[in-house]
Amino acid sequence: MFPSPETILHHSQNREVIWKNNHRSTTLSPSSKKHYVLAGLSVPTRSRGDVQTCTDWGSPVIWDGMFDPDHYDQEHRRNHSSVSLTVFAVGRYLDAYLEALLLSAERHFMVALPVTYYVFTDVPERVPDIQLGPERSLKVVRVQRHSRWQDISMMHMRAIADAIESQIRQYSRYVFCFDVDQVFVGRFGSEALGDSVALSRAYMETGDFYCHAAVFGGSWQTVKNMTETCYQTIMEDKENQMEALWHDESHLNKYLWLHKPSRVLSPEYCWSSDIGYRGDMHVTRLLWAKKNYDTLRVTV
Ligand code: UDP
Ligand code: MN
Repeated sequence: MFPSPETILHHSQNREVIWKNNHRSTTLSPSSKKHYVLAGLSVPTRSRGDVQTCTDWGSPVIWDGMFDPDHYDQEHRRNHSSVSLTVFAVGRYLDAYLEALLLSAERHFMVALPVTYYVFTDVPERVPDIQLGPERSLKVVRVQRHSRWQDISMMHMRAIADAIESQIRQYSRYVFCFDVDQVFVGRFGSEALGDSVALSRAYMETGDFYCHAAVFGGSWQTVKNMTETCYQTIMEDKENQMEALWHDESHLNKYLWLHKPSRVLSPEYCWSSDIGYRGDMHVTRLLWAKKNYDTLRVTV
């Protein structure tokens, strides 16, 4: 079994970095530039004093400057990690966004690792024929088109769980699920892999940690459990004639509140140019595409 990357990173005021796992706890001074090897996984020792790099429950929050990208890639290659990217492109969203997402993923998403794209669509014949790099492939899964965009969004969970069970689990250790209306603009690499990974949207909300459903992932086992559980709670709501305010995102947040993610991605991993400049963001890795809901969403 691949050693868990969830070795806990804790950033303390005195700019020391404390590593903990079940067996040991070690303090390293910032002058220690070496990588520290725990349970076979080399982990970064660098710290960022200006941002939160650890959640209340002890999971790392990943920011630029905290990790050595090459080291992560080497470790994951050594451990034969592989990743599936799932994305829905139903109705008008396919023509509007899919090609840009896939082309940008070829340049920036897990470039060091084998990647399988899973495109869920109602119009398989319209999936663009993109030249993929070595060790990268694309599979198309036909899905039903639901008339209400809220249903499209919610039924994702069932379709992802089914695909993991029938296919993905044979090929990929990790699964990342993305909205299609996004573009990769910088490295989105193996530092983002973990048993359960969420994107912090706390920068947009006040108060508690809040996850963004446009990006989530983890080991296939965890993502299967996550999507199955969300689907079940969505269906229970439907039976009670209820619909959560933010649809699948509300259900995902409830799941992640009960099962804390072991790795949290900073806003670098999903950003909107509309938000503007932020001093602690040294890089942007994934950007929201322009949204034209009026023309794109199916209305009945
Ligand atoms: N989606 C789709 N077709 C639709 C509506 C949604 O393929 O008609 C998929 C697509 O991947 C999209 C995701 O569902 O990115 C979530 O919907 P949207 O991006 O509109 O939601 P928001 O980002 O506003 O939460
Ligand atoms: Mn979206």
